[in-house]
Amino acid sequence: MKGRADYLKLGSHNVICDRCGRKYKVEETTIEWTGLRVCKRRCYEPRHPQEFLKGRKDDQHVPDAKPDTGNQGCGPSNVVGQAKVGCAVVGFFDKWKSPL
Ligand SMILES: [Zn+2]
Repeated sequence: MKGRADYLKLGSHNVICDRCGRKYKVEETTIEWTGLRVCKRRCYEPRHPQEFLKGRKDDQHVPDAKPDTGNQGCGPSNVVGQAKVGCAVVGFFDKWKSPL
């Protein structure tokens, strides 16, 4: 079948676009980032700029951290496993006040 690219052009040859299947001269096509030879006019899709972004490391450290001294207060005295010896008072249910 005769197409629009079927003419003599010295130093050129015909190729088929991998996407649309039409015949073009080789200089009217390009190799896309997908590896396909596609026509520049209709089928070429540049790679999206978002694909070239690099993530930044999320620095989550606390800048003025102090070591754990072990004296963190009494905590709730009515929660099993959180009440501390010497802090828990039977019948005391206030969560965030020290009973002592
Ligand atoms: Zn094409």
